[in-house]
Amino acid sequence: MGGISINDFSQSPSLPVSQSPPAPSLPVSQSPSLPLLPVSQSPSLPLLPVSQSPSLPLLPPLPLLPLLPPLPLLPVSVIMFPIIYSDTFLDHETGSFHPESPQRLEAIVKALKTVSWSDRLQWQHPTNLSERDPLPHIKNHHTNDYIKRVEAIAANGGGFLDGDTVVSPRSYEAALLAVNAWLDGVDTVLETHKPAFVLSRPPGHHAVEKTGMGFCLFSNAAIAAHYALQCTGVKRVAILDWDVHHGNGTQAIVENNPNIAYCSLHQFPAYPGTGRASETGKYNNVLNIPLEPGSHFKNYQLAFSEQVIPFLEGFQGDLLIVSAGYDANQADPLASIKLHPNDYGLFTQQLLTITSGVLFGLEGGYDLSALSESVVATIQACL
Ligand SMILES: [Zn+2]
Repeated sequence: MGGISINDFSQSPSLPVSQSPPAPSLPVSQSPSLPLLPVSQSPSLPLLPVSQSPSLPLLPPLPLLPLLPPLPLLPVSVIMFPIIYSDTFLDHETGSFHPESPQRLEAIVKALKTVSWSDRLQWQHPTNLSERDPLPHIKNHHTNDYIKRVEAIAANGGGFLDGDTVVSPRSYEAALLAVNAWLDGVDTVLETHKPAFVLSRPPGHHAVEKTGMGFCLFSNAAIAAHYALQCTGVKRVAILDWDVHHGNGTQAIVENNPNIAYCSLHQFPAYPGTGRASETGKYNNVLNIPLEPGSHFKNYQLAFSEQVIPFLEGFQGDLLIVSAGYDANQADPLASIKLHPNDYGLFTQQLLTITSGVLFGLEGGYDLSALSESVVATIQACL
């Protein structure tokens, strides 16, 4: 074996210890030792907790867990769109030839039940009148004499408030429930910060303090706006009225309140004759955009980008209520604006860039196909 045993080292050709060149050493006093640092400044390594000490022996490997069966796939969370509606709104009967007919709601409901995304609609019944009395809210904005008048006409079998504003035997009840539906809509949007739609009749934006007019009985949008201001965290409410007619009633009720803004796009001249651009409210909180008969999408789009959106953004409301009338459609028999149903979806998309807290509430719209297609386009833009 030619290996070297440990003893062979002693035989290696090394210098005897005594002949080894002495290592240069300095006397202790001359040692270039580092200056002594106080303990607190010592650059010593931080002490590791025992559990992190690298000197611990390796733990034995954990036994392999048995493989769990895969979890079942859950459906992707689907956001439901609330619609507040009651068949009671069909009980406001206006006669065989009146454009503001129960068939309007029936057409909208039918359309919404047949769209491919109908399973994403959450139909809600408004709070019953026995559970919440809307009269205190209505009395804030309509005189007691007028409210009693509507109630009496209904109780006596029906009649007219003016040439085209009908009160049928069950109109009073329907109108009260409509107010509840709008209040529910406010609650829903404030709670979810998502859009909702109130499908109610009779409409409201022409009704003034002392009387209903223009198919309208109680001022739903204005009542809802004031109700919202009583809710926690709500300081300002904006109303956008895209019904083809100016919402004279809504404007009259809110224009002296600095915490409510009102913006209306409407045909001018047209019923009811109000809504000039010079009507700006006591606090510049009103924006009226009169549009000539024959106006179409490009006119509306320009108004949206240059006036409506900046106005609403500047106001910074905590809730946006849309008086959603659809009688600016080209097919509508009561006006001469040339919008198409899908245009309302585009307007809705633009509103949603400002806030998701939008409450839509039905006002006018009298061509049943255009009306129902427009409501579908509005809601689809929210999904
Ligand atoms: Zn209208």
